[in-house]
Amino acid sequence: MYASLVVLLGYTHTFTRTSQWKNQARYEVGNRLVCGFRQEGEREGELQFVLHYGRTVGAPIRTLFQGLFESFLARRNLTVQRYEPVFCSQDHQLNRAVVRDRVSAGAAFAFCA
Ligand SMILES: [Zn+2]
Repeated sequence: MYASLVVLLGYTHTFTRTSQWKNQARYEVGNRLVCGFRQEGEREGELQFVLHYGRTVGAPIRTLFQGLFESFLARRNLTVQRYEPVFCSQDHQLNRAVVRDRVSAGAAFAFCA
């Protein structure tokens, strides 16, 4: 799955692949705007991908990258669950695993560590 996503995003010619490690690929668009994704672990029947962006990348490019990424997932028989970054009132980012567990437990809140 990871490898085919790397290739498919490269075919778009919108995003130019600038580097790729074992589980992580990085692209650029326009004036050195960086977008990328990595695969983070694999549980039974479940793949986790994290999309990441350079600080200067605005919402339209982020949306475009995410949309392309998800359009490739949509070709497969998959269910996509999105987890946005969550911050507490003190601006601490909650651990993604905590957010995932809380959402799947149906909770509408989490405590900050
Ligand atoms: Zn906090």
